[in-house]
Amino acid sequence: MGAEDKTTLYDFRYWTAPDHTRIVIDTEEDTLFSISEDSNYIILSVDDAEVLSETFSHIFFEDKRIKKTLIKRDRETIKLIFHTNKDYIVKHFTLPPNAKYRYHRLVIDVIDLESDVLETVDPIEQELPIKKKVILVDAGHGGEDYGAIGKNNSREKDVNLAIAKKLVATINQNPDLTAVLTRSGDYYIPLTKRITIAQREKATMFISIHADSVESTSAEGASIYTLSEKGNNSKLAKQLEQSQNSVDQFGGVEMVIDSDQFLKNILTDFSRKDRDIQSQQLANEILNQLKKIGPVHKKEPQTANFVVLKTPAIPSVLVETAFISNPTQEKRLTNSKQQQKIANSIYQGIIDYYHKIENPL
Ligand SMILES: [Zn+2]
Repeated sequence: MGAEDKTTLYDFRYWTAPDHTRIVIDTEEDTLFSISEDSNYIILSVDDAEVLSETFSHIFFEDKRIKKTLIKRDRETIKLIFHTNKDYIVKHFTLPPNAKYRYHRLVIDVIDLESDVLETVDPIEQELPIKKKVILVDAGHGGEDYGAIGKNNSREKDVNLAIAKKLVATINQNPDLTAVLTRSGDYYIPLTKRITIAQREKATMFISIHADSVESTSAEGASIYTLSEKGNNSKLAKQLEQSQNSVDQFGGVEMVIDSDQFLKNILTDFSRKDRDIQSQQLANEILNQLKKIGPVHKKEPQTANFVVLKTPAIPSVLVETAFISNPTQEKRLTNSKQQQKIANSIYQGIIDYYHKIENPL
């Protein structure tokens, strides 16, 4: 067998989440591999494989679960040995190439069942007798899922997280409100898990932060979406629905959950109409504020069938803060002061919404 018949391991990445570490290996279709583990090791063996010299160093990473990574070769196999600091649940699956990744991917999730806690929740605050309103702030994408990429290579997932963190900090200055992030770092969370987090945190509002992207570099402005189970017929919304909802090809978990059934179950026990009306009110208030600080793409809130907006019984909106595909807007999205401005506008929209529903005319 010549060298050209070997299986190539093209590249390696890892993402550290609060409850798991995800290891991703770019490789070929039908790669022959096996995974074995004990309390201190996870060993990935790939038959007749080679590692590209330019990505070789990417294997040697460490994080809070992986203490050390080693590589061992013999004539037939390459073994990647991940030394762990304790016993973890190990799950693996493969993902096909897509628009963002040209290679097949082998994904290994190292899951810590004991630490399924959000880093941002303060347990002392939760015991306070006065119930605060809990706002779930969702930074779109993360980890393997970059979201859109700007002309100057900024990544939507980073911009979303930066704005989401600023929004959370701003909200938390208000003693009546508590904000919680769905993700606080660069890792992927499946869409349905984002909903589960909102439920677990007893959120009373859900705000998902994104940035838009289209082919043309001149499109500009913020948009805001609420859920419509029927979906939206506009071309941009259709594209968005597709890209937003299909990000779960990064998950793995969703592959085993029947997501339709999952959503049906959580949708049965509340009034959809109330949520929709409240979501539209919230969308109006946020959009009114965003209009004050920059262009808007559409003057009215839009609707689309976004999975992430399906948390039962609470107003949920998705904010497309600006077009990352427009270099001028990309600059704005990556500027810390501008990010804070966007966060302030969303915050003011939330406050106006609460003010109106608590003081109806
Ligand atoms: Zn997005």
